[in-house]
Amino acid sequence: MPVVMSVTGPVELPLPGIFLPHEHIMSVFGRERSRWVDYDEERLVASVVPYLRGLGSLGCAAIADCTSAWIGRRADLLRRISGESGIAIITNTGYYGAAGGRYLPEGIEALGIDGVADAWVAEWEGGIDGTGIRPGFIKTGVEDNRLSPTDRTLVAAAARTHRRTGLLIQTHTGNNPLAVREILAILRAEGVHPGAWVWVHAHLVQDQRQLVRAARDGAWISLDGIHPERDEANLATLRLMKREGLLDRVLLSHDGNAFTADGSRRPFEYLLTGFRTKFIAEGFSEAEFSLLTETSPRRAFTIG
Ligand SMILES: [Zn+2]
Repeated sequence: MPVVMSVTGPVELPLPGIFLPHEHIMSVFGRERSRWVDYDEERLVASVVPYLRGLGSLGCAAIADCTSAWIGRRADLLRRISGESGIAIITNTGYYGAAGGRYLPEGIEALGIDGVADAWVAEWEGGIDGTGIRPGFIKTGVEDNRLSPTDRTLVAAAARTHRRTGLLIQTHTGNNPLAVREILAILRAEGVHPGAWVWVHAHLVQDQRQLVRAARDGAWISLDGIHPERDEANLATLRLMKREGLLDRVLLSHDGNAFTADGSRRPFEYLLTGFRTKFIAEGFSEAEFSLLTETSPRRAFTIG
């Protein structure tokens, strides 16, 4: 039976309902890094749980939480929020190397590729921060230009962690096709198929041919900027991917945040409401909607 690892343990598939592959339940992005963020727990739960219950009533079943360690990941709170909201939440292992490296732990260069991979595999094997909660994917982020030596260490460590755990890799990159070619080359050299890798923020890419190329290689293309202001561009990309026979390599999400550093919300329900209506009105089918929002994220996050 295919399995996704949630914060409450393995979830056997199929799990009916919409699966959002790139959102943030909470984070302190923008603030100083911290290994253990002391959230105002009651305020957090009071704000986030009703919001997630509302998403559940719109048909959402599962959310991958992309807040990594040092930016506010708290697996214990995610487990509580999952239990109280009824939404399956998947957390991650990994480090975020973008934003000038300000969210990387000290001494990462000294650890080297295998040292970093060992730290991530230890979370898979023994749980995160003493909670026993296991990650369901690997999250990394690289800078906006060519890969730096640290970026290369993170990508190679993610590849080795994938080989030891079967976990999907998500890499924050955006409009950076050159870095994507480098990342895919590192994965290949490490013996990892591009199908284990997600091009995060791919909706920011200017040259659409690069998306087609990466999808043909087998990578997942994450259009995680679903927003009313981007409908035209996102629908154009979806039409292109459909024409190229690559709709089954695309993931849709909002990169929302239910509880940002200042406690405000970047919502993530539009895919389930207005976007869905527009998608169908544009001539796409219900089957294509469920491929993009149910089947594909399940395939991507299935362990192994
Ligand atoms: Zn994100």
